[in-house]
Amino acid sequence: MIEYRHVVEQKISELPLGKVVCVGRNYADHARELNNPVPSAPVLFIKPATSLAPMEGSIEIPSAHGECHFEAEMSILIGDPITRGNDKNPLECIAGIGLSLDLTLRDLQQTLKSKGLPWEKAKAFDGACPTSTFLSPSRLGDLQTQYIKLYQNNILKQNGNTADMITPVESLLTYISQYFSLAPGDLVLTGTPAGVGALAEGDNLCIELSDLIRCDTDVSLR
Ligand code: ZN
Repeated sequence: MIEYRHVVEQKISELPLGKVVCVGRNYADHARELNNPVPSAPVLFIKPATSLAPMEGSIEIPSAHGECHFEAEMSILIGDPITRGNDKNPLECIAGIGLSLDLTLRDLQQTLKSKGLPWEKAKAFDGACPTSTFLSPSRLGDLQTQYIKLYQNNILKQNGNTADMITPVESLLTYISQYFSLAPGDLVLTGTPAGVGALAEGDNLCIELSDLIRCDTDVSLR
């Protein structure tokens, strides 16, 4: 049995991780930029463990399915179980905080959405969730005052702050647990601010969470 609190600051490729529960449209400015309504309740979807890949250094994106968009997000590594009916403070169940990219095959997603079909092929493919090394949550302090920045080829594309989440982390974890139990080693992605866009072969990305996490990565096609 792994004690996830003790594995922060290890590369994610060395960790057994579980499912990734994601929230769509958790920043109003991002919902608007994709012409989506701001939801009245969190929009949840899941990426499998096979979508995880290290974010540092290089990432690979599919070449055969149209545009692949970056979405930079604060990610939460679960350390203690969070289940329905458990009255423990969910913030005390967090083992680590990291950065993830919720990679999205946007053309494919639009096609699936327009047909009323599920999004998995657009969101859950192998490598669809590049993720940084995690830091202990005590290093960040208040999770709702962190900035998220993404530079694509040295141009600032995303510049958000977790203060602007529609559903903040504590309520989000509680909401998720009404549907899906969160187990140690699971991840929760907390949504992306505005500024998402398409990736191209040879892009360099620099993604930052406050002054604490900074990932430099190059994009290649597969
Ligand atoms: Zn997202």
